Amino acid sequence: MPQQSYNTETRRRRICILGSTGSIGTQALDVIRQHPDIFEAHTLTANTNSKLLIQQAREFLPDSVVIAAEDKYLEVRNALSDLPIKVYTGDEALCHVVQSAEVDMVLAAMVGFAGLRPTIEALKAGKALALANKETLVVAGEIITRIALENRAPILPVDSEHSAIFQSLAGASPNAISRILLTASGGPFRTYSEEKLCKATSREALKHPNWQMGEKITIDSATLMNKGFEVIEAKWLFGVDVDKIEVVVHPESIIHSAVEYADGAIIAQLGVPDMRLPIQYAFAYPSRLPLKGERLDLFKIGTLHFEKVDNNKFPCLQLAYQAIRKGGNMPCILNAANEVANLAFRNDRISFTRIPQILEYAMQNATFIASPTLEDYFLTDKQARMLAESFIA
Ligand code: NDP
Repeated sequence: MPQQSYNTETRRRRICILGSTGSIGTQALDVIRQHPDIFEAHTLTANTNSKLLIQQAREFLPDSVVIAAEDKYLEVRNALSDLPIKVYTGDEALCHVVQSAEVDMVLAAMVGFAGLRPTIEALKAGKALALANKETLVVAGEIITRIALENRAPILPVDSEHSAIFQSLAGASPNAISRILLTASGGPFRTYSEEKLCKATSREALKHPNWQMGEKITIDSATLMNKGFEVIEAKWLFGVDVDKIEVVVHPESIIHSAVEYADGAIIAQLGVPDMRLPIQYAFAYPSRLPLKGERLDLFKIGTLHFEKVDNNKFPCLQLAYQAIRKGGNMPCILNAANEVANLAFRNDRISFTRIPQILEYAMQNATFIASPTLEDYFLTDKQARMLAESFIA
């Protein structure tokens, strides 16, 4: 939950994009492209995709770029040598650039646990954080929200569901929330039988019906692990008990989520599936800016559908509820094992239905810590990855 409204400024809002070459990062740049008078891409970062990073740097002329992969550093530096752009490399550089005094906002759009340290450094530096990288809140929600509060650093949700909840909460007291209705498309395997799920391939899983996203989150959407992570993310962002968060399968992905209040009123945010809207809302908050793109035509949509989740076919959602109810480092264990299982499935090393088995194994065998420190999370991540790998081998 943002702790303060973001200051209105007269100069352009300078944004550091962690993960500018990804699905969220490229859409964030499109938002900046539409509003060059309001936003500035101050820093761009990538892991290995040097070609796209160079192209983006030449178009947006940022102050700095970071290519995390050190073997790509010379290529990026040489390609930008005619421009006054600082070029850095390595994981430490990611933690360094977010702290720059010139940066107003950091968009955390890296994928997975790797985003944790730079996100924490951004919050410690008091930066407004536009958060897409949900894994960081899953792993260390308690520490992250505490650091944000201590440093008066607002967290603006970018995930479409959380942005919808945030928008539905505008002007309301969080005390009056009686339920959060977290919508889920159900993913590409929603209608598959259990037999068909056993044979589901990564190629089929990567065809999401409504959203174009990075590969990791697309697989997480197929297992509903993504929805489980979003339950945990909502708990930390909005301070709501997970038992008040209900997942509703809504195949059209038009209602992006809703809040039910004490008086029974349900306030929802609707729109076409387009991540640029929640990205822009986080960037411009509390303002609303024009956004080019398709508009929702309710007459064309006609009917909306809602279903309960089939927990037998998609056990990952319940594993997420179990992990957050247990607390401590259990969500971190779940996340680490999931990163391993997700990649193994993408690499055709395991079947789709093996994913939850790997997660359960890690949750049962990793060392549980009730009150973990930040250091404990790094150790837990390592141990859970090893356990997941050993189960696969
Ligand atoms: P992508 O895989 O498309 O992009 C990930 C970005 O992070 C890329 O720029 C990548 O660089 C960079 N990156 C990956 N690993 C590292 C690393 N170890 N060090 C430094 N940089 C790294 O992911 P998405 O954009 O789909 O997702 C980003 C985050 O946003 C995820 O946490 C996801 O759950 C969340 N999210 C995504 C949504 C979507 O629509 N895509 C919706 C809601 C949330 P490179 O290109 O060089 O590999």
